[in-house]
Amino acid sequence: MVDSAVPRFWREIPQRYNLIGNQCGACNTIYFPPREACPQCRRKSMDNMKPIKLKGKGKVITYSIIHVAPERFEGQAPYPIAIIELEEGPRVTAQLVDCDPEDVNVGMLVESTFRKIQEDGYIGAIYYGYKFRPVK
Ligand SMILES: [Zn+2]
Repeated sequence: MVDSAVPRFWREIPQRYNLIGNQCGACNTIYFPPREACPQCRRKSMDNMKPIKLKGKGKVITYSIIHVAPERFEGQAPYPIAIIELEEGPRVTAQLVDCDPEDVNVGMLVESTFRKIQEDGYIGAIYYGYKFRPVK
């Protein structure tokens, strides 16, 4: 499909807003983003994936500090990007906010926060999604 990129973004909006993953009814493994079937259980899991709201709490597994930001993120550099292991198990990659890059460390407890991700000046669209901040 030629036009799949943009509709896919909008289809994913509820997940982006709410950290909705899903769980395999056969082996209980939790996925984020949600999957259509569990790679462990294959066909058995096809009708068995249940949506699950993730708490958005986790810890930093690894991180890097972005000094040269991509276009549209330039004003934000330097900023930390971390791989976060959620309490439920899935790992997500997200920007860390509300902390100085030098204060980030492996094992740091973080929680999700709903933030503006990108503003498109031409279309005027503003994209929102989750970022993470240290648990106080
Ligand atoms: Zn499974």
